[in-house]
Amino acid sequence: MNKFFYKVQQFMTGRNGLDRFNKFLFILYAVIIFINIFLNSLIVYLFELSLIGYIVFRTLSKNLYRRSRENQAYMKIENSVKNFFVRQKNRIRDIKTHRYIRCKHCKAQLRVKRRKGKHTVRCPKCRQEFSVNIRI
Ligand SMILES: [Zn+2]
Repeated sequence: MNKFFYKVQQFMTGRNGLDRFNKFLFILYAVIIFINIFLNSLIVYLFELSLIGYIVFRTLSKNLYRRSRENQAYMKIENSVKNFFVRQKNRIRDIKTHRYIRCKHCKAQLRVKRRKGKHTVRCPKCRQEFSVNIRI
């Protein structure tokens, strides 16, 4: 059995293997298979086949530079989606103590303490001051 793993290890040397983008594609593949159990569509089935073909191609590819670039582009999107949900979670957590406002100059999101009335706020990003009226 050790000889088998050694052979597999040697075969995979210099190949891309499983990166984050491949793992995402594999989860997408599993979801599409599950959906197609109910749809039973030929077009979706052909998409499944092309998707698993792409996953195998990416896993066995020796063009590490291009696969790495694809993975980085995917990671950028994944991180922005994750950050969006983290920000929403923080907004809900801080709903009683803070307000989230946009800077009028650079559109950066600012978190200010929830105190009724007019306040002057300085944006930490662009250093511009502007007034904010917090009603609730
Ligand atoms: Zn600003």
